[in-house]
Amino acid sequence: MDYQGALEVVAAAVRSQVGQGQVAQYIPALAAVEAGQFGMAVADMNGDVYGVGDWEEPFSVQSISKTFSLALVLARDGEAIWQRVGREPSGNAFNSLVQLEYENGVPRNPFINAGALVVTDRLQTLTDDASTTLLDFLRAESDNPDLAFDPAVALSETEHGDRNAALAHFMASYGNLENPVPTVLQHYFWQCSIRMSCRDLALAGGFLARHGLRADGGRLLSRREAKQVNAVMLTCGTYDAAGNFAYRVGLPGKSGVGGGIVAVIPGRCTLCVWSPGLDERGNSVAGVAALDHFTTLTGWSVF
Ligand code: GLN
Repeated sequence: MDYQGALEVVAAAVRSQVGQGQVAQYIPALAAVEAGQFGMAVADMNGDVYGVGDWEEPFSVQSISKTFSLALVLARDGEAIWQRVGREPSGNAFNSLVQLEYENGVPRNPFINAGALVVTDRLQTLTDDASTTLLDFLRAESDNPDLAFDPAVALSETEHGDRNAALAHFMASYGNLENPVPTVLQHYFWQCSIRMSCRDLALAGGFLARHGLRADGGRLLSRREAKQVNAVMLTCGTYDAAGNFAYRVGLPGKSGVGGGIVAVIPGRCTLCVWSPGLDERGNSVAGVAALDHFTTLTGWSVF
């Protein structure tokens, strides 16, 4: 496969959509990002990476981090986490509160904010420093020791984090958090603030294409657990747009309000695309279009 050629065709095809949508406004430090940027990278099974556009430019990973924290909890604790978080698409916005009361404080899935807070809580219990554990893992998998938190983004989100605080307190009232709410929120905001490029994320997500094997060949997840993470990405990774994402792209994918999306072609490669303009559901407009073009061009969706 000529990955480089395919990326260049895709980048040209979506050029008119770069800058469409709106950069996330509710985290003020993100609202300052320049909308007209676009990058895309593919990492193959050998760890060779190909890229186009702004593929080496770091951006805020935001909810893409939820994929990695889930994997780290499964790796350490097996499937026990599924007692505390479901795995059904929510059909609601990523920061919605409405279903939590009907379901006794058990979030619908690990990729809406409520579910990710539970996963971060468990990672905190297991490691005593959830966000640093995550950062260390991402540095190792992307072979980039320079990856770092963005304190300005983490603080900006802390100052404007009433909705996430409400979710955390509500779940705590049902006994579904093990650590104090401020500790869980702090680690969640810091994990979301990590800055990575498309190159870094395509490499870091390689274990999902390799059925659970890390970059160094060691096993992070069993094949069964890797299948589970990919399946939940497909059904829940783009929130209330997951149906449309499956329809257009046909791959497990996880988006973030920084404008990044990681997508996995199991057994072949991991992709990451980034463009900060978001649709009303919080997914990158040009990013979804690029993945749609890529799987149409290559014939490599999971369907
Ligand atoms: N940090 C963001 C939040 O909690 C992440 C949301 C996202 O990327 N969808 O609101």
